[in-house]
Amino acid sequence: MKAVRLVEVHHPLQLQEIPIPTIGDNDVLVRVRATGICHTDVHYREGSSPVGPLPKTPGHEVAGIVEQVGKQVTTVTMGERVCIHYVLSCGTCSYCIKGQEQFCAQGSMVGRYADGGYAQYVSVPASNVVHLPDEIPFEQGAILMCSSATAFHALRKAKLAGGETVAIFGIGGLGISAVQLAYAFGALDVYAVDINADKLQLAANYGAIPLNASTNDPVAEIRKRTQGQGVDVALEMIGLPLTMKQAVQSLAVMGRAVITGISNRPLEIDTYADLLGREAIVTGTSDHLLLELPPLLELARRGKLDLSEVVTRTIPLDADAINQAMDNLAQFHSDIRTVIVP
Ligand SMILES: [Zn+2]
Ligand SMILES: [Zn+2]
Repeated sequence: MKAVRLVEVHHPLQLQEIPIPTIGDNDVLVRVRATGICHTDVHYREGSSPVGPLPKTPGHEVAGIVEQVGKQVTTVTMGERVCIHYVLSCGTCSYCIKGQEQFCAQGSMVGRYADGGYAQYVSVPASNVVHLPDEIPFEQGAILMCSSATAFHALRKAKLAGGETVAIFGIGGLGISAVQLAYAFGALDVYAVDINADKLQLAANYGAIPLNASTNDPVAEIRKRTQGQGVDVALEMIGLPLTMKQAVQSLAVMGRAVITGISNRPLEIDTYADLLGREAIVTGTSDHLLLELPPLLELARRGKLDLSEVVTRTIPLDADAINQAMDNLAQFHSDIRTVIVP
């Protein structure tokens, strides 16, 4: 089969002809129909995030059709439309038993430590596939598996309850899913904070109240619009110390801030005014859980989560096209979502 693989970091991916993966008794072979190109994949190519051993086939946002099932598999059928949950976990370690599979002691990841979807076929444990309803195109199924799933997990971490107010800092792929999912969770008002007018307009199209942080202080604006109270939940989806701080400062009494953006820089807050004085909670979030994917897919099937404006380009399984898409992500921090359709 054809696979576009990372052979050496700091070098373009290469098209290789490799054998179709063999499957074990509990695995399934999926014929790839769509794979999202994620910014994380660019980090692997640049060597700024660990990956390997090389060569490795990237691609952790995958949807396709089941082509073969292992002898012991009873939960998945041949020909079924599926999405792949990229977190590979053992199911038996202390983390897995507690439902914290993203911290599995033997954990791995499709498209990072195991071969992923920049290929015609991918083999995964049957327990890692979820049914993809007919109403959802493969391209959207693929990207639901990463940014949308992470947004869904972040809102569950925030324990968002019906009637609460939410502020979302950063309206990229995560943020636009978070806006829609927050309303699906029953949020009363969702404030969308960004500095890009197009992104703010897109958030407003989904019912958010846009706040342009390049012209107004978003914290003051949120306080003003909530009669001084602040929001119950703030999600930070950029990874900047400033926006993390603003998310915490926007909170109401008993508010919860969830940090989703990645940064290795310190978060400085006034612990008295911003934490103790409000009994606020600041928490991190990491990936998502298998159990979150079926309800997420059902929300997409029902149209509560609409990704039709998110997938903006499809390309074939071609090394040049894929490297070019990755270059665009790296150089322009483009939010254009490119999906490989083999
Ligand atoms: Zn991703
Ligand atoms: Zn485990």
